[in-house]
Amino acid sequence: MEKNLLFFIRIEKLKAARKKERASEKEIYNLLKNAYEKRIIFRSQSELINYLKDNLKDKLLPSKEIIRKVAIKVGYKIKYSTKRIDKEYRECPVCGSPLTKIITHNIKGEPVISEYECKFCKFKTKDKKDLPIKFKFIL
Ligand SMILES: [Zn+2]
Repeated sequence: MEKNLLFFIRIEKLKAARKKERASEKEIYNLLKNAYEKRIIFRSQSELINYLKDNLKDKLLPSKEIIRKVAIKVGYKIKYSTKRIDKEYRECPVCGSPLTKIITHNIKGEPVISEYECKFCKFKTKDKKDLPIKFKFIL
């Protein structure tokens, strides 16, 4: 009997863990909009993540790219430093949007890729090897 009860409790716990919801973009948007209107700045990404976690209780957060993208939509300006990496990234390392080639012409008049740009957050890179780190979210 007691064994059955323990088994039952274990199953309920598993179900509860599985049910853990992911916060929607809309929820993140509303929370950040609220923070923005209160003129709250986040001196680091972990500060922003903690703010979201405190307000979302038990929900899982979307990816950091999505969170940064929503922060930009709300009106935050993102500052960061960069570090060099060996492997090229494919998408914008700030917000996860596609990177567009900026074509210019060299002295011979041949088209060359001068830069890559994110149309959403305006991130620019010459070789897709400078990785943004240490994000700050300012007004
Ligand atoms: Zn971007």
